[in-house]
Amino acid sequence: MSTDQGKVAIITGGASGLGAASAVRLAERGVNVVLADRKDPGEAAEVVEACRSKGVEAIAVQADVSRDEDCTRVAQAAIERFGRIDILVNCAATTRFAAHDDLHALDAQDFLDVYAVNLVGPYQMIRACAPAMKVQGRGAIVNISSTAGVLGIGSSVAYAASKGALLTMTKLLARALAPEIRINAVCPGFMDTPWLSEHFAPDRYAALLESAKTSRPIKEAGTADYVADAVVFLALEGSRYITGETIMSDGGHHLGLGG
Ligand code: NAD
Repeated sequence: MSTDQGKVAIITGGASGLGAASAVRLAERGVNVVLADRKDPGEAAEVVEACRSKGVEAIAVQADVSRDEDCTRVAQAAIERFGRIDILVNCAATTRFAAHDDLHALDAQDFLDVYAVNLVGPYQMIRACAPAMKVQGRGAIVNISSTAGVLGIGSSVAYAASKGALLTMTKLLARALAPEIRINAVCPGFMDTPWLSEHFAPDRYAALLESAKTSRPIKEAGTADYVADAVVFLALEGSRYITGETIMSDGGHHLGLGG
């Protein structure tokens, strides 16, 4: 039996996209999962079922990660149901779409709303889960940032800045919470999930997918499973000597095409 079997993972934003794919991949490795999402748990039923079909236990808890009391409640639900928390994947996020050169497109409240979910949310989730991990003597946290936070691109200034800040927090807390807790980040590039497909008209979205295939060294648009593979690596014991690290899962987009 692998040392990862029987572990317990909380995945925020677990009802959809990258969080859902990460939950199923962790379930395949014998990890029980708690899906925490602001959506009604009914909307996470399919993901719960997909995880259970891998032979583990899975539950869905409705929670908005920008609310500290919700974060505490998610951690309590994991402890009540499973008695431990080994892994936290901070995947929930939000954005505002705004042209980068339009300095009036976003106001202070837009920034605060994006930061509340994308940065304060992960912080509150880490604060809620860290005590259990410390007591157990071991825990792994994976923050889902974005190429936006590294390259200064993406849906808006507020979104890119929040994801950059999440990377800074990843490094700082990796140092502060060691040696018991490891914290790493994954930066997805454009991935085919509801994140953008729900925002753009179908023909515009199809064009975006097509350009993703040609504008990166690995000539493929990303799927949720690619990010999930990186999440699983950082969450499980195979990466036990790695902390404060960032993995770019973007088909090499951050490298540019060169030549
Ligand atoms: P998605 O829309 O499929 O899933 C996001 C999930 O987060 C949804 O289920 C949503 O209900 C949940 N959520 C949003 N706000 C929440 C809140 N306040 N509390 C709890 N849950 C909340 O999108 P996705 O593509 O799976 O995105 C997941 C992560 O990946 C995000 O952090 C996003 O910034 C990042 N990302 C995505 C892409 C991409 O192209 N898909 C690229 C780079 C980074």
